[in-house]
Amino acid sequence: MNAAELTISQLREAYSKGDLTPADALQSIASAIDETDGDIGGYLSYDLELALKDAESVDLSKPLGGVPIALKDLINAEGQPCAAASRILDGKYQSPYDATVVRKLREAGAIPFGRANMDEFAMGSSNENSGIKPCRNPHDTDRIPGGSSGGSAAVVAAKTAVAALGTDTGGSIRQPASHCGVVGVKPTYGRVSRYGLIAFASSLDQCGPLTKTVEDSALLLQTIAGPCERDSTCLDAEVPDYTAAIGQDIKGLKIGLPKEYFAEGLDPAVKEKVENALKTLESLGAETIEISLPNTDHAVATYYIIATAEASANLARFDGVRYGHRSQEADDLLGVYELSRDEGFGAEVKRRILLGTYVLSSGYYDAYYLRAQKVRTLIRQDFTTAFEKVDVIASPVSPTPAFKIGEKSSDPLAMYLADIYTISANLAGVCGISVPCGSVSEGGSDLPVGLQLLGKPLGESDLFRAAHALETA
Ligand code: GLN
Repeated sequence: MNAAELTISQLREAYSKGDLTPADALQSIASAIDETDGDIGGYLSYDLELALKDAESVDLSKPLGGVPIALKDLINAEGQPCAAASRILDGKYQSPYDATVVRKLREAGAIPFGRANMDEFAMGSSNENSGIKPCRNPHDTDRIPGGSSGGSAAVVAAKTAVAALGTDTGGSIRQPASHCGVVGVKPTYGRVSRYGLIAFASSLDQCGPLTKTVEDSALLLQTIAGPCERDSTCLDAEVPDYTAAIGQDIKGLKIGLPKEYFAEGLDPAVKEKVENALKTLESLGAETIEISLPNTDHAVATYYIIATAEASANLARFDGVRYGHRSQEADDLLGVYELSRDEGFGAEVKRRILLGTYVLSSGYYDAYYLRAQKVRTLIRQDFTTAFEKVDVIASPVSPTPAFKIGEKSSDPLAMYLADIYTISANLAGVCGISVPCGSVSEGGSDLPVGLQLLGKPLGESDLFRAAHALETA
């Protein structure tokens, strides 16, 4: 039996019945990866020996006792490689420590297993920017799995992982979850520590789960959330019992439908699936109300100024001196910096560093970066106003189902615009979930569609409650 076919709850049950041991589970997952991941490319690597060693001392009575969790390749786990799918770190860096999320996973009994593919430094929406190898959608291998946590979503969907962690800066958990037909949660900004994660855009990044069920996501978030003295942006707020929200009814839940998210550009087949899901939620007692997020039009531009500005600063450390790739061609110090970065970074990462450096440069700072910060405040206010009237906001995750590999790669703007429904949540700092709501058929494949639910800051329980109700229905 392949243990990765199971949910976290099912795997724990198999352990408690004595049907399986963590070592069996790891071995079966490694075999499944060897057999099927060649066609998907969801993993960059895995270390069975290391995981089996971890399994020896695992306490099965803990909440995630013996549960293997795949990690997006930007999460540090001691003794594992960590390269953010970039050539600048690939084969040249091994984590000397655990990220806080990994420490918390281990404390709950979980076993970090497997490095999930991603867009290089989490920059992308399709995984085509991986500096190591492409990743494909398990539902149609001619299509993208989404990004940037494409590997994390693909391995859960392909049943080569029980569950995974990813990160979401502008949609990178929710969008691949939607395209691969799994559940993905972007927690409230500050809910989960980023200590030990390779940073992309520090005012936007959040780490969260990708799982087969809503309950598994609640369980995983429960484990990784909470204050962290090593991340000053991490909120000092108690972690509620997220699993208690599972199974609660949604009678009287007020769901806001932003009119700007159901407008032009939304694929009619995706719209139909989302509307069906909303009807289901209504039949369960929820009330839908039209709302407005008037600054939606500016979200993509605002995000691509702020995210690139922060990225240009965060990525300055990869310089061929401190660690990572060092060019062999250089003959002076400047050459070391320039050539190491030129050889190590891929095209999209370079584009973002250039953009980000430009918008921060003297003379342009006020016109771009400062203005973007002001618009960000307006976008945040849109959400504050909306949440005075509703408990959650519902929308599509992505305007289309998973597109074909290569379809948008020559047009970065078209790729950026596809993030329209996910980006505002990061700018506002609110939480969000993508939950499967059916599939549409395109070119002979059934392609999953996700419903996005956005919640108030620290309102994750509302998301789990509503998403679980939909999943069950
Ligand atoms: N697709 C967006 C980007 O390319 C979001 C990425 C992310 O959330 N990490 O920046």
